[in-house]
Amino acid sequence: MTTPDGGDNKHSVLEIRGLRAGVAGKEILRGIDLRVASGEVHAVMGPNGSGKSTLAHVLMGRPGYEVLGGSVSLDGRELLTLPTWERAQAGLFLCLQYPIEVPGVSLEHALAAAFAAGGRERGAIDEVLVAEADRIGFRRELLSRALNVELSGGEKKANETLQLAVLEPRFAVLDEIDSGLDLDLLRAVSRRIEAETTETGLGVLAITHYSRLLHELEPDRVHVLSAGRIVQSGGPELAEELERTGYAAYAEEEQAAANGAPPKAADPFADPFADPFA
Ligand code: ADP
Ligand code: MG
Repeated sequence: MTTPDGGDNKHSVLEIRGLRAGVAGKEILRGIDLRVASGEVHAVMGPNGSGKSTLAHVLMGRPGYEVLGGSVSLDGRELLTLPTWERAQAGLFLCLQYPIEVPGVSLEHALAAAFAAGGRERGAIDEVLVAEADRIGFRRELLSRALNVELSGGEKKANETLQLAVLEPRFAVLDEIDSGLDLDLLRAVSRRIEAETTETGLGVLAITHYSRLLHELEPDRVHVLSAGRIVQSGGPELAEELERTGYAAYAEEEQAAANGAPPKAADPFADPFADPFA
């Protein structure tokens, strides 16, 4: 798809460099480096409180989070200085861990407004929505509800997926999109997003605790976030390994960070090939 600025969805790069950020006076993200190209799926896994949602919110520019250093660029354009709506127009989309209810605004109106704001055309949105709803098995009658109002947790996640499918962003950050979904909807949602990586070249940063999301949505890379840093990266097998072992191997680092110690990985004498599962 050609975008308003003449860009091409299939050859974009989202690059996070040395990102440090805090909330309520506490440093949470302590230097994140990630590079996601169009069509790639990167999973970010990690224990509760490691900073996964903070990363999602800082990428999208949620108020209340303070950027302390680093950069986030989309095809070389710095995003951190832009308001949230401009980041969205640049092609970034966030599926919230806890989607917000918006009484009085329908899904169709919200999407129409998003297209109009971006100066983009997209035929009959109602028809596209029905087709997309059918594609993931989302009940059609839920489409006429006000945005996320009186939807179950899983239906809200499916609703986010519909928006993603219709808006065709360049990059999507999915914050635990699998939580609340039953197995059928989980399979449909992950399959839909995987298809978008090839159909439109969507790049994905998928935050999750569970490898089951990653069966249909196939990760190119899996990263472990612990105490605000990426402490390990690997292929899809890392997700399965984590599901078996849990995050106990990283508990020491979590505790040290909580006590204000500098990140372990910054130790120049640390063995870069050490096996954290040993
Ligand atoms: P995760 O999504 O990995 O579970 P979060 O990014 O939500 O972790 O939280 C990381 C840390 O930041 C936690 O210790 C959490 O308590 C803290 N935190 C997150 N948001 C806020 C906030 N608005 N005010 C104070 N602390 C926060
Ligand atoms: Mg979270």
